[in-house]
Amino acid sequence: MSDKQNLVILGSTGSIGTSTLDVVERNQARYQVFALVAGRNVQLVIEQALTHQPRYVVMGSEDAAKEVSAALSTSQTEVLNGMQAMCDMAAHPDVDIVMSAIVGAAGLLPTLAAVEQGKKVLLANKESLVMSGQLFMDKVKRHGATLLPIDSEHNAIFQCLPGSLQNGDSTALAAQGIRKILLTGSGGPFLTRATDTLADVTVAEAVAHPNWSMGQKISVDSATMMNKGLEFVEAKWLFHCQADDIEVVIHPQSMIHSMVQYIDGSVIAQMGQPDMRTPIAYGLAYPERIEAGVKPLDFADIVDFTFTKPDFNRYPNLKLAIDACRSGQSATTTLNAANEIAVAAFLSEQIGFCDIYRINAEVLERCHLEPLHSVDAIMAQDAQARRLARELISK
Ligand code: NAD
Ligand code: MG
Repeated sequence: MSDKQNLVILGSTGSIGTSTLDVVERNQARYQVFALVAGRNVQLVIEQALTHQPRYVVMGSEDAAKEVSAALSTSQTEVLNGMQAMCDMAAHPDVDIVMSAIVGAAGLLPTLAAVEQGKKVLLANKESLVMSGQLFMDKVKRHGATLLPIDSEHNAIFQCLPGSLQNGDSTALAAQGIRKILLTGSGGPFLTRATDTLADVTVAEAVAHPNWSMGQKISVDSATMMNKGLEFVEAKWLFHCQADDIEVVIHPQSMIHSMVQYIDGSVIAQMGQPDMRTPIAYGLAYPERIEAGVKPLDFADIVDFTFTKPDFNRYPNLKLAIDACRSGQSATTTLNAANEIAVAAFLSEQIGFCDIYRINAEVLERCHLEPLHSVDAIMAQDAQARRLARELISK
C-alpha cells in the first residue's frame, strides 16, 4: 500500500484541471490520480490517462466514454460515463482529495457527493456554492469535510485569515478583529474601453483576459465582472460573513489576489503571479507548502500598482450579483443559472455582450423566488431560470 494521497479531478481537461495535473506531476511522491472526470475532450483525457494511469476515467457522455475506452483498452483504467459515476468517484472510499473544477452548475452534485463523504474538497467551481450556499456549508460542517478555496481571491483571503477561521470556526469576522474583506479584481479586458462601444464587443475580445488564462465561461464572466459578483457571493458563504463585510477593489495588475483588513488598521494581502498553480498547490498540500512551478514575483519588474473602485455603469452585472447576494439564496441561484445560459448564447453569437446583463436582470425580475432548502428545490429553481433565459434569448 502506498502512502500517496488519492486524487479525483472533476474537470481534468479544463484550465484548472490541466494546471492541477501540472502540480501533481511536480509532486508525484505525494499524489496519485485516482480518477479523471471530463465532459467531451476525448483526445486530451486519453493523453492524461496514459500519463497518470488513473483507476477510472468518467466522461460526460456514453459516446465520449466509448472512444476513450477504445483508446485505453490495453491499460488498467476503467472508463465510465454520466453524472452518477462522477458522484461515485467523488465519494469513493479510497479517495482523499477531490478537485472540483467542472465549470458551472454541472459541478454541484459531484462536489456535494465529495462533501457528504467528508473529503478534502478543493473548490474551484464557485457556481456550486453560489447555487447552494447555506446547504453546501451546512453539509461541510455536518460531514466534517475540509473545504479549501482554489479561486485565487478566496485562496488569498483564506491565507490572510487567523488560523481559527481557517479551521472552520464560523464566529463573526468582527469577533476576530476583522473589519473587512477586500476582494480584488482586475476589471477584465474592458476596464478602459468606452462604455458606448461595449455593445459591439466580440467573443474574441471578451475572452482575451489581460492577466489570466482561463476557460471561456469564466473569461466572459471576468469581462462583465459577473465573475467578481459570483465571487462576492462565494466569499459570503466561505467566510461566514455578510455583504457589508466585503468590498470589491479594482487592481488591474492582479498581483495582490485579495486582502483582509483588521480593526487595528493592519491590512494583510496575499501576492503572487497570476498563475492558478499557486492556489492549487496550496490547496493540495495545506497546511504544508509544495513546489508549484510558479515563477517568483520580481518586484523590480513591477511598474504599476494601482487600485480603484468598480464603476457599476461599466459593470452592471456586478451590481446585480451584489444585490442578489443581499436578497438571498433563491436570487443567487436564479442569477447563476440565467448567466450560464446568457454567456453560452453570447459565446455562440446568438446575443450581444450587453444582452448578457439584460437577460440576467430580466430573469431575476420575472422568476418566482422562494426559499430553497433542498437540492431538489435548488435544481428546480435553476431549471426555471434557465427556461426563462432561453425564452428571452429566442425572442
Ligand atoms: P474550463 O472550461 O477550462 O474547463 C471545464 C472542465 O469541466 C472541462 O474539463 C470540461 O470537460 C468539464 N466539464 C464541463 N461540463 C461538464 C459536464 N457536464 N460534466 C463533466 N465535466 C464537464 O473551465 P475552467 O476555467 O477550468 O474553470 C473551471 C471552474 O473553476 C469554473 O467553475 C471556474 O469558475 C473556476 N475557476 C477557474 C479559474 C481559472 O483560472 N480557470 C479560476 C478560478 C475559478
Ligand atoms: Mg477568481
